[in-house]
Amino acid sequence: MKLRQDFPILSLEVNGHPLTYLDSGATSQNPVQVLDAERNFYTGANSAVHRGAHTLAVESTDLFEEARRVVAEFVGARENDIVWTANATEALNLVTYSFANASEGLGGEAAQKFALQEGDEIVVTEQEHHANLIPWQQLAKKTGATLRWIPVLEDGTLNYEEAEKVITARTKVLAFTHVSNVLGSITDVDYLVKLGRQAGAFIVLDACQSVPHMPVNFRELDVDFAAFSGHKMLAPTGIGVLYGKSELLKDMPPFLTGGSMITKVTMTEAEFMAPPTRFEAGTQKVSQVVALAEAVRYLGHLGMENVHAWEAELGKRLAQGVSEISGVRLLGPAVGMERAGVAAVHVDGVHPHDVGQILDTEGIAVRVGHHCAQPLHRAMGINASTRASGYIYNTTDDVDRFLQSLATVRPYFG
Ligand code: PLP
Repeated sequence: MKLRQDFPILSLEVNGHPLTYLDSGATSQNPVQVLDAERNFYTGANSAVHRGAHTLAVESTDLFEEARRVVAEFVGARENDIVWTANATEALNLVTYSFANASEGLGGEAAQKFALQEGDEIVVTEQEHHANLIPWQQLAKKTGATLRWIPVLEDGTLNYEEAEKVITARTKVLAFTHVSNVLGSITDVDYLVKLGRQAGAFIVLDACQSVPHMPVNFRELDVDFAAFSGHKMLAPTGIGVLYGKSELLKDMPPFLTGGSMITKVTMTEAEFMAPPTRFEAGTQKVSQVVALAEAVRYLGHLGMENVHAWEAELGKRLAQGVSEISGVRLLGPAVGMERAGVAAVHVDGVHPHDVGQILDTEGIAVRVGHHCAQPLHRAMGINASTRASGYIYNTTDDVDRFLQSLATVRPYFG
Protein backbone atom coordinates (compact mmCIF):
# COMPACT_ATOMS: atom_id res chain seq x y z
CA MET A 1 0.00 0.00 0.00
CA LYS A 2 1.66 3.17 -1.26
CA LEU A 3 0.36 5.62 1.33
CA ARG A 4 2.10 3.68 4.13
CA GLN A 5 5.32 5.32 2.94
CA ASP A 6 3.93 8.62 4.21
CA PHE A 7 3.94 7.28 7.78
CA PRO A 8 7.52 6.89 9.05
CA ILE A 9 6.46 5.16 12.27
CA LEU A 10 4.94 2.26 10.36
CA SER A 11 8.38 1.02 9.34
CA LEU A 12 9.39 0.48 12.98
CA GLU A 13 10.16 -2.98 14.26
CA VAL A 14 8.65 -3.86 17.64
CA ASN A 15 9.91 -6.90 19.54
CA GLY A 16 11.62 -8.16 16.41
CA HIS A 17 8.52 -7.90 14.22
CA PRO A 18 7.31 -5.23 11.83
CA LEU A 19 4.88 -2.99 13.69
CA THR A 20 1.22 -3.85 13.15
CA TYR A 21 -0.54 -0.77 14.43
CA LEU A 22 -4.20 -1.49 15.20
CA ASP A 23 -4.79 1.16 17.85
CA SER A 24 -5.86 4.16 15.80
CA GLY A 25 -9.14 4.36 17.73
CA ALA A 26 -6.99 5.55 20.64
CA THR A 27 -4.61 7.70 18.62
CA SER A 28 -3.62 7.72 14.96
CA GLN A 29 -0.22 8.13 13.31
CA ASN A 30 1.04 11.23 11.49
CA PRO A 31 2.01 11.37 7.80
CA VAL A 32 5.11 13.33 6.80
CA GLN A 33 2.89 16.01 5.26
CA VAL A 34 1.46 16.77 8.71
CA LEU A 35 4.83 16.54 10.46
CA ASP A 36 6.30 18.90 7.85
CA ALA A 37 3.45 21.38 8.24
CA GLU A 38 4.08 21.59 11.96
CA ARG A 39 7.85 21.90 11.52
CA ASN A 40 7.46 24.50 8.75
CA PHE A 41 5.24 26.52 11.03
CA TYR A 42 7.94 26.57 13.70
CA THR A 43 10.75 27.38 11.29
CA GLY A 44 8.84 29.91 9.18
CA ALA A 45 6.07 31.65 11.08
CA ASN A 46 5.93 30.80 14.78
CA SER A 47 4.13 33.59 16.65
CA ALA A 48 1.15 34.15 18.91
CA VAL A 49 -2.02 34.82 16.93
CA HIS A 50 -4.43 37.76 17.00
CA ARG A 51 -1.79 39.91 18.73
CA GLY A 52 1.04 42.05 17.53
CA ALA A 53 1.42 43.84 14.22
CA HIS A 54 4.67 42.22 13.12
CA THR A 55 4.90 40.12 9.99
CA LEU A 56 5.21 36.72 11.66
CA ALA A 57 2.20 37.42 13.89
CA VAL A 58 0.16 38.26 10.81
CA GLU A 59 1.34 35.11 9.01
CA SER A 60 0.58 32.91 12.02
CA THR A 61 -2.87 34.46 12.34
CA ASP A 62 -3.55 33.88 8.63
CA LEU A 63 -2.53 30.22 8.91
CA PHE A 64 -4.61 29.80 12.08
CA GLU A 65 -7.75 31.26 10.49
CA GLU A 66 -7.18 29.50 7.16
CA ALA A 67 -7.11 26.23 9.15
CA ARG A 68 -10.50 27.12 10.62
CA ARG A 69 -11.89 27.48 7.08
CA VAL A 70 -10.38 24.14 6.00
CA VAL A 71 -11.70 22.23 9.03
CA ALA A 72 -15.12 23.92 8.82
CA GLU A 73 -15.52 22.90 5.19
CA PHE A 74 -14.48 19.33 6.01
CA VAL A 75 -17.40 18.88 8.44
CA GLY A 76 -20.02 20.98 6.65
CA ALA A 77 -19.72 23.94 9.02
CA ARG A 78 -19.20 27.69 8.76
CA GLU A 79 -15.96 29.20 10.10
CA ASN A 80 -17.67 30.75 13.10
CA ASP A 81 -19.08 27.37 14.11
CA ILE A 82 -15.57 26.04 14.82
CA VAL A 83 -13.92 26.50 18.23
CA TRP A 84 -10.40 25.18 18.91
CA THR A 85 -10.01 23.20 22.10
CA ALA A 86 -7.30 20.93 23.53
CA ASN A 87 -9.21 17.76 22.63
CA ALA A 88 -12.75 16.42 22.38
CA THR A 89 -12.95 16.07 26.15
CA GLU A 90 -12.39 19.80 26.56
CA ALA A 91 -14.90 20.54 23.80
CA LEU A 92 -17.61 18.59 25.62
CA ASN A 93 -16.66 20.19 28.94
CA LEU A 94 -16.88 23.59 27.30
CA VAL A 95 -20.55 22.98 26.51
CA THR A 96 -21.39 21.60 29.96
CA TYR A 97 -19.52 24.35 31.83
CA SER A 98 -21.13 27.01 29.66
CA PHE A 99 -24.58 25.54 30.39
CA ALA A 100 -23.72 25.40 34.11
CA ASN A 101 -22.65 29.05 34.00
CA ALA A 102 -25.91 29.95 32.24
CA SER A 103 -27.78 28.06 34.96
CA GLU A 104 -26.12 30.34 37.52
CA GLY A 105 -27.30 33.43 35.66
CA LEU A 106 -24.07 34.23 33.81
CA GLY A 107 -24.57 35.43 30.25
CA GLY A 108 -27.78 37.26 31.14
CA GLU A 109 -31.18 36.87 29.55
CA ALA A 110 -29.87 35.57 26.21
CA ALA A 111 -28.14 32.63 27.93
CA GLN A 112 -31.22 31.55 29.86
CA LYS A 113 -32.21 29.08 27.15
CA PHE A 114 -29.14 27.03 28.16
CA ALA A 115 -30.02 27.03 31.87
CA LEU A 116 -31.02 23.74 33.48
CA GLN A 117 -32.94 23.17 36.66
CA GLU A 118 -34.72 20.48 38.62
CA GLY A 119 -37.27 18.75 36.40
CA ASP A 120 -35.09 19.07 33.29
CA GLU A 121 -33.51 15.92 31.90
CA ILE A 122 -30.21 15.23 30.18
CA VAL A 123 -30.26 12.11 28.03
CA VAL A 124 -27.12 10.20 27.03
CA THR A 125 -26.62 6.56 26.02
CA GLU A 126 -25.12 3.64 27.88
CA GLN A 127 -22.54 3.39 25.10
CA GLU A 128 -20.81 6.68 25.84
CA HIS A 129 -17.10 7.22 26.24
CA HIS A 130 -16.56 8.74 29.70
CA ALA A 131 -15.79 12.06 27.98
CA ASN A 132 -19.42 12.27 26.88
CA LEU A 133 -20.82 10.98 30.15
CA ILE A 134 -19.03 12.46 33.15
CA PRO A 135 -19.37 16.13 32.07
CA TRP A 136 -23.15 15.56 31.82
CA GLN A 137 -23.20 13.82 35.22
CA GLN A 138 -21.47 16.87 36.65
CA LEU A 139 -23.88 19.27 34.97
CA ALA A 140 -26.82 17.31 36.38
CA LYS A 141 -25.31 17.45 39.88
CA LYS A 142 -24.70 21.20 39.62
CA THR A 143 -28.15 22.10 38.33
CA GLY A 144 -30.48 19.51 39.88
CA ALA A 145 -31.37 18.15 36.44
CA THR A 146 -31.83 14.38 36.06
CA LEU A 147 -29.47 12.25 33.97
CA ARG A 148 -31.20 9.53 31.94
CA TRP A 149 -29.85 7.17 29.31
CA ILE A 150 -30.82 5.05 26.35
CA PRO A 151 -29.81 1.53 27.35
CA VAL A 152 -27.92 -0.96 25.21
CA LEU A 153 -28.85 -4.49 24.19
CA GLU A 154 -26.82 -7.52 25.24
CA ASP A 155 -24.39 -7.06 22.33
CA GLY A 156 -23.78 -3.44 23.33
CA THR A 157 -25.71 -1.83 20.45
CA LEU A 158 -28.33 0.80 21.22
CA ASN A 159 -31.83 -0.18 22.24
CA TYR A 160 -33.68 2.22 19.93
CA GLU A 161 -37.10 1.07 21.16
CA GLU A 162 -36.25 2.47 24.57
CA ALA A 163 -35.06 5.77 23.08
CA GLU A 164 -38.63 6.85 22.40
CA LYS A 165 -39.50 6.35 26.06
CA VAL A 166 -36.40 8.03 27.47
CA ILE A 167 -36.53 11.15 25.27
CA THR A 168 -39.52 13.24 26.35
CA ALA A 169 -40.67 16.85 26.57
CA ARG A 170 -38.50 17.13 29.70
CA THR A 171 -35.33 16.39 27.73
CA LYS A 172 -33.23 19.53 27.63
CA VAL A 173 -30.07 17.94 26.23
CA LEU A 174 -29.58 14.82 24.12
CA ALA A 175 -25.91 13.79 23.86
CA PHE A 176 -24.75 10.65 22.09
CA THR A 177 -21.88 9.13 20.19
CA HIS A 178 -21.87 8.84 16.40
CA VAL A 179 -19.70 5.71 16.35
CA SER A 180 -18.98 3.61 19.44
CA ASN A 181 -15.27 3.67 20.24
CA VAL A 182 -15.55 0.12 21.60
CA LEU A 183 -17.89 -1.62 19.18
CA GLY A 184 -17.58 0.29 15.93
CA SER A 185 -21.38 0.39 15.73
CA ILE A 186 -22.74 3.40 13.86
CA THR A 187 -25.60 5.31 15.50
CA ASP A 188 -28.76 6.15 13.60
CA VAL A 189 -28.21 9.89 14.03
CA ASP A 190 -31.23 10.91 11.94
CA TYR A 191 -33.57 8.92 14.15
CA LEU A 192 -32.20 10.30 17.43
CA VAL A 193 -32.08 13.85 16.06
CA LYS A 194 -35.73 13.51 15.08
CA LEU A 195 -36.64 12.47 18.63
CA GLY A 196 -34.45 15.19 20.09
CA ARG A 197 -35.99 17.88 17.90
CA GLN A 198 -39.52 16.76 18.82
CA ALA A 199 -38.51 17.15 22.47
CA GLY A 200 -36.98 20.59 21.83
CA ALA A 201 -33.60 19.44 23.21
CA PHE A 202 -30.11 20.67 22.41
CA ILE A 203 -28.40 17.90 20.48
CA VAL A 204 -24.73 17.11 21.10
CA LEU A 205 -22.82 14.60 18.97
CA ASP A 206 -19.60 12.91 20.03
CA ALA A 207 -18.00 12.64 16.61
CA CYS A 208 -14.57 11.43 17.76
CA GLN A 209 -14.88 8.12 15.97
CA SER A 210 -16.82 9.33 12.93
CA VAL A 211 -15.13 12.48 11.60
CA PRO A 212 -11.76 10.70 11.09
CA HIS A 213 -13.37 7.75 9.30
CA MET A 214 -16.37 8.75 7.18
CA PRO A 215 -17.93 11.74 5.45
CA VAL A 216 -19.64 13.84 8.14
CA ASN A 217 -21.66 17.01 7.60
CA PHE A 218 -22.83 18.51 10.89
CA ARG A 219 -25.27 20.93 9.30
CA GLU A 220 -26.92 18.14 7.33
CA LEU A 221 -27.07 15.99 10.46
CA ASP A 222 -28.67 18.99 12.18
CA VAL A 223 -26.88 18.60 15.50
CA ASP A 224 -26.33 21.70 17.64
CA PHE A 225 -22.89 20.79 18.95
CA ALA A 226 -20.27 18.18 18.09
CA ALA A 227 -16.80 17.31 19.30
CA PHE A 228 -13.79 15.58 17.79
CA SER A 229 -10.04 15.26 18.35
CA GLY A 230 -7.16 15.92 15.94
CA HIS A 231 -4.96 13.11 17.22
CA LYS A 232 -7.48 10.53 16.01
CA MET A 233 -7.30 11.88 12.44
CA LEU A 234 -3.60 12.05 11.53
CA ALA A 235 -2.92 15.28 13.44
CA PRO A 236 -0.85 15.81 16.59
CA THR A 237 -2.18 15.63 20.13
CA GLY A 238 -3.31 18.82 21.84
CA ILE A 239 -5.90 19.95 19.33
CA GLY A 240 -9.62 19.28 19.45
CA VAL A 241 -12.64 20.86 17.84
CA LEU A 242 -15.99 21.98 19.15
CA TYR A 243 -18.58 22.49 16.45
CA GLY A 244 -21.43 24.69 17.64
CA LYS A 245 -24.08 26.46 15.60
CA SER A 246 -22.82 30.04 15.75
CA GLU A 247 -26.35 31.30 16.43
CA LEU A 248 -26.18 29.32 19.69
CA LEU A 249 -22.52 30.02 20.52
CA LYS A 250 -23.20 33.76 20.36
CA ASP A 251 -25.47 33.57 23.42
CA MET A 252 -23.38 31.15 25.48
CA PRO A 253 -21.27 32.32 28.43
CA PRO A 254 -17.57 31.44 28.17
CA PHE A 255 -16.00 28.41 29.84
CA LEU A 256 -12.34 29.50 30.24
CA THR A 257 -11.69 33.19 30.75
CA GLY A 258 -8.56 35.36 30.56
CA GLY A 259 -6.51 36.87 27.77
CA SER A 260 -7.42 36.94 24.07
CA MET A 261 -11.19 36.58 24.55
CA ILE A 262 -12.18 40.06 25.71
CA THR A 263 -12.98 43.47 24.22
CA LYS A 264 -12.86 45.61 27.36
CA VAL A 265 -11.70 44.96 30.93
CA THR A 266 -12.02 47.02 34.11
CA MET A 267 -10.99 45.94 37.61
CA THR A 268 -14.45 44.48 38.19
CA GLU A 269 -15.92 43.64 34.78
CA ALA A 270 -15.02 42.22 31.37
CA GLU A 271 -16.77 42.26 28.02
CA PHE A 272 -16.27 39.19 25.88
CA MET A 273 -15.56 38.86 22.19
CA ALA A 274 -17.94 37.19 19.79
CA PRO A 275 -17.52 33.46 19.24
CA PRO A 276 -15.45 31.55 18.35
CA THR A 277 -12.79 33.81 19.98
CA ARG A 278 -14.87 34.09 23.17
CA PHE A 279 -14.16 30.41 23.75
CA GLU A 280 -10.44 30.51 22.91
CA ALA A 281 -8.87 32.00 26.02
CA GLY A 282 -5.10 32.22 26.36
CA THR A 283 -2.27 31.63 23.91
CA GLN A 284 -3.49 29.27 21.25
CA LYS A 285 -2.17 25.91 20.04
CA VAL A 286 -1.26 27.30 16.65
CA SER A 287 1.13 24.62 15.35
CA GLN A 288 -1.38 21.89 16.17
CA VAL A 289 -4.15 23.81 14.41
CA VAL A 290 -1.98 24.25 11.32
CA ALA A 291 -1.09 20.54 11.40
CA LEU A 292 -4.76 19.56 11.78
CA ALA A 293 -5.60 21.52 8.64
CA GLU A 294 -2.88 19.58 6.79
CA ALA A 295 -4.31 16.29 8.11
CA VAL A 296 -7.72 17.31 6.82
CA ARG A 297 -6.22 18.11 3.41
CA TYR A 298 -4.57 14.69 3.40
CA LEU A 299 -7.86 12.94 4.19
CA GLY A 300 -9.61 15.14 1.64
CA HIS A 301 -7.20 13.95 -1.09
CA LEU A 302 -8.01 10.35 -0.22
CA GLY A 303 -11.75 11.09 -0.18
CA MET A 304 -13.76 10.25 2.92
CA GLU A 305 -16.05 7.91 0.96
CA ASN A 306 -12.96 5.86 0.07
CA VAL A 307 -11.70 5.97 3.65
CA HIS A 308 -15.05 4.72 4.91
CA ALA A 309 -15.28 1.97 2.30
CA TRP A 310 -11.78 0.68 3.05
CA GLU A 311 -12.36 0.63 6.79
CA ALA A 312 -15.71 -1.13 6.37
CA GLU A 313 -13.74 -3.80 4.48
CA LEU A 314 -11.23 -4.08 7.34
CA GLY A 315 -14.10 -4.23 9.87
CA LYS A 316 -15.82 -6.99 7.94
CA ARG A 317 -12.63 -9.04 7.79
CA LEU A 318 -11.95 -8.50 11.48
CA ALA A 319 -15.48 -9.52 12.51
CA GLN A 320 -15.56 -12.58 10.25
CA GLY A 321 -12.11 -13.72 11.40
CA VAL A 322 -12.87 -13.25 15.09
CA SER A 323 -16.11 -15.20 14.78
CA GLU A 324 -14.10 -18.20 13.54
CA ILE A 325 -11.88 -18.38 16.65
CA SER A 326 -13.34 -20.56 19.36
CA GLY A 327 -13.71 -19.08 22.83
CA VAL A 328 -13.52 -15.53 21.52
CA ARG A 329 -16.64 -13.34 21.70
CA LEU A 330 -17.09 -10.58 19.17
CA LEU A 331 -18.68 -7.54 20.83
CA GLY A 332 -21.07 -5.22 19.03
CA PRO A 333 -22.73 -5.73 15.65
CA ALA A 334 -22.88 -9.35 14.47
CA VAL A 335 -20.86 -10.53 11.45
CA GLY A 336 -22.32 -9.06 8.28
CA MET A 337 -23.90 -6.07 10.06
CA GLU A 338 -22.62 -2.54 9.50
CA ARG A 339 -19.53 -1.70 11.58
CA ALA A 340 -16.57 0.65 11.35
CA GLY A 341 -13.04 -0.78 11.02
CA VAL A 342 -13.07 -1.85 14.64
CA ALA A 343 -13.49 -5.12 16.51
CA ALA A 344 -13.49 -5.51 20.28
CA VAL A 345 -13.34 -9.02 21.63
CA HIS A 346 -13.58 -10.88 24.89
CA VAL A 347 -11.37 -13.94 25.18
CA ASP A 348 -12.83 -16.57 27.48
CA GLY A 349 -10.79 -16.99 30.65
CA VAL A 350 -7.93 -14.66 29.64
CA HIS A 351 -7.52 -11.12 30.93
CA PRO A 352 -7.31 -8.52 28.13
CA HIS A 353 -3.94 -7.33 29.46
CA ASP A 354 -2.55 -10.83 28.86
CA VAL A 355 -4.09 -10.85 25.39
CA GLY A 356 -2.47 -7.50 24.68
CA GLN A 357 0.91 -8.69 25.88
CA ILE A 358 0.89 -11.77 23.68
CA LEU A 359 -0.03 -9.65 20.67
CA ASP A 360 2.70 -7.16 21.59
CA THR A 361 5.39 -9.85 21.52
CA GLU A 362 4.56 -10.12 17.82
CA GLY A 363 4.64 -6.36 17.26
CA ILE A 364 0.85 -6.00 17.22
CA ALA A 365 -0.49 -2.90 18.98
CA VAL A 366 -4.08 -3.02 20.21
CA ARG A 367 -5.95 -1.40 23.08
CA VAL A 368 -6.90 -3.35 26.18
CA GLY A 369 -9.08 -2.38 29.15
CA HIS A 370 -12.44 -0.65 29.35
CA HIS A 371 -11.59 1.94 26.67
CA CYS A 372 -13.11 4.68 28.86
CA ALA A 373 -16.50 3.00 28.59
CA GLN A 374 -17.04 1.18 31.88
CA PRO A 375 -20.87 1.27 31.86
CA LEU A 376 -20.95 -0.23 28.36
CA HIS A 377 -18.68 -3.10 29.38
CA ARG A 378 -20.73 -3.71 32.50
CA ALA A 379 -23.92 -3.84 30.42
CA MET A 380 -22.29 -6.52 28.25
CA GLY A 381 -21.43 -8.52 31.38
CA ILE A 382 -17.65 -7.98 31.21
CA ASN A 383 -15.08 -5.65 32.77
CA ALA A 384 -12.76 -5.13 29.87
CA SER A 385 -11.98 -6.15 26.30
CA THR A 386 -9.31 -6.17 23.61
CA ARG A 387 -9.88 -3.78 20.71
CA ALA A 388 -8.31 -3.74 17.27
CA SER A 389 -9.02 -0.52 15.41
CA GLY A 390 -7.90 0.12 11.85
CA TYR A 391 -7.28 3.21 9.77
CA ILE A 392 -6.35 4.23 6.26
CA TYR A 393 -2.84 2.74 6.52
CA ASN A 394 -3.89 -0.73 7.67
CA THR A 395 -3.85 -3.63 5.24
CA THR A 396 -5.69 -6.93 5.16
CA ASP A 397 -2.33 -8.48 6.15
CA ASP A 398 -2.43 -6.44 9.37
CA VAL A 399 -5.88 -7.85 10.11
CA ASP A 400 -4.72 -11.40 9.34
CA ARG A 401 -1.66 -11.05 11.59
CA PHE A 402 -3.93 -9.91 14.42
CA LEU A 403 -6.34 -12.81 13.85
CA GLN A 404 -3.54 -15.39 13.69
CA SER A 405 -2.02 -14.11 16.89
CA LEU A 406 -5.40 -13.88 18.64
CA ALA A 407 -6.05 -17.53 17.76
CA THR A 408 -2.94 -18.54 19.73
CA VAL A 409 -4.00 -16.83 22.97
CA ARG A 410 -6.32 -19.46 24.50
CA PRO A 411 -4.14 -22.43 23.52
CA TYR A 412 -1.17 -20.58 25.07
CA PHE A 413 -2.94 -20.31 28.42
CA GLY A 414 -4.05 -23.94 28.16
N1 PLP B 1 -15.30 10.13 22.63
C1 PLP B 1 -14.93 9.02 21.98
C2 PLP B 1 -15.97 8.20 21.29
C3 PLP B 1 -13.59 8.64 21.97
O1 PLP B 1 -13.22 7.53 21.34
C4 PLP B 1 -12.64 9.45 22.64
C5 PLP B 1 -11.22 9.05 22.70
O2 PLP B 1 -10.91 7.89 22.90
C6 PLP B 1 -13.09 10.60 23.28
C7 PLP B 1 -14.43 10.92 23.26
C8 PLP B 1 -12.15 11.52 24.01
O3 PLP B 1 -11.21 12.04 23.14
P1 PLP B 1 -9.95 12.84 23.73
O4 PLP B 1 -9.31 11.94 24.73
O5 PLP B 1 -9.11 13.09 22.54
O6 PLP B 1 -10.49 14.07 24.35
